[in-house]
Amino acid sequence: MMRNVNVNEPQNPQSCQTSVMPSALVLKKCTCCNLEFPKTEDYFRKRGEKNNNNFRSECKKCFDEKAKKRHIEFYKNNTEKEKERYKYFYYRDIEHTHNKQHKTYLKNIDHTKKYDKKRINELTDSIILNRLVSQTSLNRNEIPKELIETKRLLTQLKRTLKNGN
Ligand SMILES: [Zn+2]
Repeated sequence: MMRNVNVNEPQNPQSCQTSVMPSALVLKKCTCCNLEFPKTEDYFRKRGEKNNNNFRSECKKCFDEKAKKRHIEFYKNNTEKEKERYKYFYYRDIEHTHNKQHKTYLKNIDHTKKYDKKRINELTDSIILNRLVSQTSLNRNEIPKELIETKRLLTQLKRTLKNGN
């Protein structure tokens, strides 16, 4: 599998030369995908403390993918226990849980509203998908790209007609 390595060109090479150049020049091969990346924290996670130079042998992406798989596997094998644990913390202090949820909701409300408006305005894939799912009996993963494109065009057309343009 090929992967594009996007090494950002420093805007002003001279100013970052001392901090970026040395380690970024050293390439390290990932033991999992066998691709080479600059030996920096952008591409590799570190073992233990932040300030050491002990990089993991797998690139960030491979390491994170494995961690995710491990997590899913753990949950599969411990579903009941995990559910119990979740319930325990959820119901331990139900008022506290609800307050916390409400606080998070309030903290994000402006962002959520703005973000939703922007998504609706731009008719992103997920917005179109939501509409298709609610208007048809299809599941999200059954909807082909072409249908999303068609639905987007139709919605844009309706909008244009509504605005009388
Ligand atoms: Zn890798």
